Amino acid sequence: MKSLQQELDRRRAEHLYRRRRVLGSPQGPLLQVDGVELLSFCSNDYLGLANHPEVISAMQRGAQQYGAGSGSAHLVSGHSAAHHALEEELAEFTRRPRALLYSTGYMANQGVITALLGRGDTIYQDRLNHASLIDGGLLSRASLKRYPHNDMATLANQMDAQTGGESLVAVDGVFSMDGDLAPLPALAALCKKQAAWLLVDDAHGLGVLGQDGCGSVDHFGLGLDEVPILMGTLGKAFGTFGAFVAGSDELIETLIQQSRSYIYTTALPPAVAEATRASLILVQQESWRREHLQQLIQRFREGAEQLGLSLMASETAIQPLLAGTAERAMSWSRALEEEGLLVTAIRPPTVPEGSARLRVTLSASHTFEQVDRLLDGLGRLDQGAPS
Ligand code: PMP
Repeated sequence: MKSLQQELDRRRAEHLYRRRRVLGSPQGPLLQVDGVELLSFCSNDYLGLANHPEVISAMQRGAQQYGAGSGSAHLVSGHSAAHHALEEELAEFTRRPRALLYSTGYMANQGVITALLGRGDTIYQDRLNHASLIDGGLLSRASLKRYPHNDMATLANQMDAQTGGESLVAVDGVFSMDGDLAPLPALAALCKKQAAWLLVDDAHGLGVLGQDGCGSVDHFGLGLDEVPILMGTLGKAFGTFGAFVAGSDELIETLIQQSRSYIYTTALPPAVAEATRASLILVQQESWRREHLQQLIQRFREGAEQLGLSLMASETAIQPLLAGTAERAMSWSRALEEEGLLVTAIRPPTVPEGSARLRVTLSASHTFEQVDRLLDGLGRLDQGAPS
């Protein structure tokens, strides 16, 4: 039997060991991390709603009304009025006929892909897609074709070569580790031409981009016709937990009947659904959060450019700084921590070999002064070319 310890030791030696930190405070710019206060730039709480008093009160009211847990799966006895109302509100928000709640985004991606595809079908995926899309593709048993990041010509050639079966293109709307956008209009046109499904995972665009935070699909002026399957997560800009798929009535009914990660799991606590209903109102009404976030992004990019940092081509709240080796990313992260800044290093296999990075994420809850503090810290790092 292979020694687990040997493998753990190898990871440690290659600077790939992952370590959990214990937080003693709510999400926000200032975090208690292993007992020490750090200024954090690595949460996905893009709009600063995870610790919003109205969201917390809604969760408390939800717990009073429905209790702590949902008790069972949606199709058994776990589908509460809170879940139902949230689904209707998410459908209206995304301007789609219906929406279906999943317990996590990971499960939503697996659930939708496995419900629609099987042996003999083909799934096309951008090389930088989130692991949950890739895993869903593998689990479906469809043939998996990956294309280089945002490379439409290769994707078109791959699709031309398909000989039979259904086809589905799955893509991150905003790429989770690079922060750039997928070319959704071109993807939508190609899918229409090829009669393929298009699934957009908008975990990082929803709440942040588009009118009222409607996401990357809306940012490009696309709707249900162009993007028939929209997946969104609730644990990022919405500040709570869970996920949903929005689309046509037939799509949602098919998922209810066939999507195993929907059917065979306990529904979200209804209190989480109530909290998300409150954050959905804030997402839409408090557009200042998106505007402030945009200003912070601009301030960060201008400052980073002046410092000559190796920024990537991202205009979103995800602003990675390329380090190259895992060792270098780790040493940058440790140096920042010594200055009271929390910016985690992202290493392979989460990102391709040789592209380890610091994944800086900005949130509407940050101030300009806090971004300046980050820039000061980054300015003191060893700034040679990526190793
Ligand atoms: N898709 C993308 C692009 C993500 O970044 C994530 C979360 N990191 C997920 C899906 C999974 O969502 P969840 O955390 O709700 O499982």
